[in-house]
Amino acid sequence: MNALGLIRPDLFIFLCLLFLLIIVVAISQITRTHKVYLAFHSIMMVWPLGQYAVSIAVRPDIQLIFLKLSFVSIGLIGPGWLFFVLFLTQRTSWLKSSRLAAVLLPSIISVAAVLWNPNGLFFTSEGDHLGDRQYGPMFWLLAFTQFGYLFVTLISMYYTMKNDSSSKRRKQMTTTLLGMFVLTGFAVLDVLVNVMLRDYLPIVPGLMSIGILLSDFCFVVAISRYGMFDVLSTAQKDIIDHMSMGIIVVDDSNKVIEVNRGAEPFALVAKGDDFEMDKFLSSIEHREEVREFLYRYRNYPGSRQQTEISWRDGRYVSIQISPVLDETKSVLAKVITFQDVTEQRKHVEEMNRKNEALHERNLELILIQEELFRVNQKLEQMAITDGLTGCYNRRFLMQQLEHEVMLNYRYGTPFSIFLFDIDHFKTFNDRYGHVVGDEVICKTAETVRNSLRRTDILARYGGEEFTIYLPHTNREQAELLADRIIQAVAASEIAVGKETVGITISMGTITEEAFQKPVDDVKEYLRSMFAQVDAALYQAKNQGRNRVVVAS
Ligand code: GH3
Ligand code: MG
Ligand code: MG
Repeated sequence: MNALGLIRPDLFIFLCLLFLLIIVVAISQITRTHKVYLAFHSIMMVWPLGQYAVSIAVRPDIQLIFLKLSFVSIGLIGPGWLFFVLFLTQRTSWLKSSRLAAVLLPSIISVAAVLWNPNGLFFTSEGDHLGDRQYGPMFWLLAFTQFGYLFVTLISMYYTMKNDSSSKRRKQMTTTLLGMFVLTGFAVLDVLVNVMLRDYLPIVPGLMSIGILLSDFCFVVAISRYGMFDVLSTAQKDIIDHMSMGIIVVDDSNKVIEVNRGAEPFALVAKGDDFEMDKFLSSIEHREEVREFLYRYRNYPGSRQQTEISWRDGRYVSIQISPVLDETKSVLAKVITFQDVTEQRKHVEEMNRKNEALHERNLELILIQEELFRVNQKLEQMAITDGLTGCYNRRFLMQQLEHEVMLNYRYGTPFSIFLFDIDHFKTFNDRYGHVVGDEVICKTAETVRNSLRRTDILARYGGEEFTIYLPHTNREQAELLADRIIQAVAASEIAVGKETVGITISMGTITEEAFQKPVDDVKEYLRSMFAQVDAALYQAKNQGRNRVVVAS
């Protein structure tokens, strides 16, 4: 047994490490990084504990157990800090299961070499006490393996520092790096003094343990002071938990890997449960739309899907599925969100109702507008026609004439105006009454209209007198037409009871084809024209009626 016995620093260091461990557990919110660190820390604690146990143990076989235990812990330090750094820098995605085996293999071999120690290839002891030992090639295998892990860890840290520009991250990396170099430095020193130069220098106990203590101190600082990143992910989790939207994340085999509190009202699932969308939806909804959604969900897992279902209590829930894809576009997980959209839906329905009402109101307005248009047209027609005969009225004719005369003058187009009056009309009225009189007026107008051209305008001038405007009509044509009209009326007959009565008309005509005087006042011009044609009509009456007199 070592003379220093109980006061060896290993126990003290073990207690310090235990104290640090307790601090980490007490002050920190436990995250995955902390858990990994705690495992790593515990592995390192075994070294001083083992060393202390070796120093106080009396029986060599007990000593051997603790010595091997110490070296097992050294064999695990390498992968320990690699994992720790990967978690600290959130590069855990680097640890795929295929890589994991390769990463752990050298460590497992080293540990096996320690435990087995074939033919003393790891170490041999001279004499009873194991404190006096010689190290074989397997010891060096263990030592170099640790350097290998150190190297890989440093590469990972280098990439983190290169890609992450935050000063907090840099400080964290620097502190971690310091811890790793301190540990490596003490390990090298221990090997140098206590293994390689043991024949020349006195044994210095506890070198490795001091290195472990100092490095752990650095690591604890790195996670507790600069470990903002775990806080962030905790904050993210907190935010997700407090969202009103329900979120369920399932992996590619539909196992729930994350679920927030907001999902509770929609689906009671916990992490690790299976979440089958088919079963879930088929218990609630059977609409065609939902079946289509399920079909797409099953057959197109890589695309976003959305549907809206009506919940049991009359609420509406929007379900959205967003796939999480890797570089090769294969689905790693699906994020399913549930959102109560009852309010939005109510608003949309309300808007639709209002829209429909507006649409109906619009249709009514269009109908009213059409009716108004028809009435207007009728009014316009009424304003220009004579109610009894359906011919144009005098006002319309005069308006037209004012316009036409000017045009005819400008282009030198000949035109004619006829004025005619039913002969002895009073006799009809007196003999048959006003109703028959009216009929005679209408019949006469109809007969005359049938003798006219489309472009001629027949207007009731007043009582049983009518005017005809004949555009593009010279004197010769006018005379022919006037005779034709007189004859057509004379040839017509009207049935009154059992009798038939004949009608005749007298007519005055006037034609403008010379255009000698320019027209200054069109109204005055028309007045004079009508005076002339009226005189001609008067003459026709005087000359015996049923004839035409052309105004000179
Ligand atoms: P003349 O051959 O000289 O023209 O003899 P007449 O009897 O036709 O005389 P006049 O043209 O002066 O007669 C007009 C009469 O027509 C007077 C009036 O009683 C009648 N009358 C005017 N307007 C209407 C009407 O709208 N309907 C009916 N039934 N009679 C009318
Ligand atoms: Mg008359
Ligand atoms: Mg008359």
